[in-house]
Amino acid sequence: MHERGMLIVLSGPSGVGKGTVRQAMMNSGYRDFKYSVSMTTRKMRPGEVDGVDYYFRTREQFEQEIADGGMLEYAQYVDNYYGTPLKYVNQTLDEGKDVLLEIEVNGAMQVRAKCPDAVFIFLTPPDLGELKHRLEGRGTDDEATIIKRVRKAVGEVKMMSNYDYAVVNDKVPLAVERIENIIKSEHLRVTRVMDRYTNMLEHTKLSD
Ligand code: 5GP
Repeated sequence: MHERGMLIVLSGPSGVGKGTVRQAMMNSGYRDFKYSVSMTTRKMRPGEVDGVDYYFRTREQFEQEIADGGMLEYAQYVDNYYGTPLKYVNQTLDEGKDVLLEIEVNGAMQVRAKCPDAVFIFLTPPDLGELKHRLEGRGTDDEATIIKRVRKAVGEVKMMSNYDYAVVNDKVPLAVERIENIIKSEHLRVTRVMDRYTNMLEHTKLSD
């Protein structure tokens, strides 16, 4: 029997580049995970393919999925629904494969409540710490705008405390490398491999 796969949640504030990093992960050499295609009610953009980028559905269809208990999590984002179909995630984890979700923060918090052993990665903009200083130094924003931006950044930092890892998205290949390192290390966590060792100990007969 194989071990259950690991659920990896990649999230973070809007505009931080989650989609780009996820795409880069899917194109990198390390492909030991399956990406869970989300469902959405937003309109398909040029070049997008149903079933590859998203499952594009009507509001009615999406709400029916929710009512049927078919969503692991979902959120309303800019007037549209976005959510993770539960069935694919469960099946793939049961097959022993890791599953990657790329979702916004409200959905991530729902997963946190339902799947505490998932790995939660928060992608951060590179300038978070220096934001105020930088904005003031640049001199292009008035004080009110700076305060608004910094307030947003503070909110983002507060959200970060609900995650296990913070990954700076300064350069996409570097962010990808950090995430891959996290995944590899998480697989070595004692709590994740304990069952295997317990099993091994039980089956080891010591002869004297
Ligand atoms: P976009 O419309 O640009 O493709 O995505 C908008 C936002 O929705 C992004 O922040 C993206 O991460 C998020 N998103 C995509 N799929 C899901 C999902 O299944 N659940 C949740 N909660 N957010 C999602």
